[in-house]
Amino acid sequence: MNYILMGPPGAGKGTQAKKIVEKFGIVHLSTGDMFREAKKSSESIRKFLVSGQLVPDEIVVNMVEKRLEKDDIKKGFLLDGFPRTVNQALELDKMLKSKNIKIDVIFFIDVHFEEVVKRISGRRVCSCGASYCVNFISPKVKGKCDACNGELIQRSDDKENVVKDRLDVYEKQTSPLIDYYKKTELFVDIDGLKSESEVFEKINKYIEAKKIVF
Ligand code: AMP
Repeated sequence: MNYILMGPPGAGKGTQAKKIVEKFGIVHLSTGDMFREAKKSSESIRKFLVSGQLVPDEIVVNMVEKRLEKDDIKKGFLLDGFPRTVNQALELDKMLKSKNIKIDVIFFIDVHFEEVVKRISGRRVCSCGASYCVNFISPKVKGKCDACNGELIQRSDDKENVVKDRLDVYEKQTSPLIDYYKKTELFVDIDGLKSESEVFEKINKYIEAKKIVF
């Protein structure tokens, strides 16, 4: 089964994605993670990320297309952070059709902007992948990861001046995509204001139910 996970920055996509891929043994395709890796060796990619701007569609689409050629995606995959524009969605439709792959569910984690700003401003991450929000889920020791005792840092694109730009980008370029997908029967709206475990429970139930139907 293949899924798309959508939602504004700070909606909890990364946290939910980790739980989903772990539970269902599928591949996590996060374009944000791919670009965070790419920015280490590419100055042009780094510039888009630090300014909160989207990487141009043709670069993202190419990257995803190449990734979808790898064998491991046959286990099923979760697209996280892609597509992010209507054009990317149209390109995705084309590439999936040509590869004879179908998407089973599109999950949208719905969180209003005020909450998103609160969450992002408090987000601290560890290089092991763990994520905390100092306003809600504080680590046991301040500044240290509960899982590996690593240093917790604020993502450069979570800093206040960049967050505003990311939210503007989301509003202008990604919101129209929600309307595009809402018209399809694959779209599932999840209340992202619920707790982390309640959100996962809802997604989990949905996936289990779909697995029986298919
Ligand atoms: P994320 O971790 O998903 O918030 O992504 C971090 C950054 O990577 C974004 O702010 C963009 O600069 C870039 N990025 C990730 N996914 C995409 C995408 N689908 N299209 C364009 N840029 C992207």
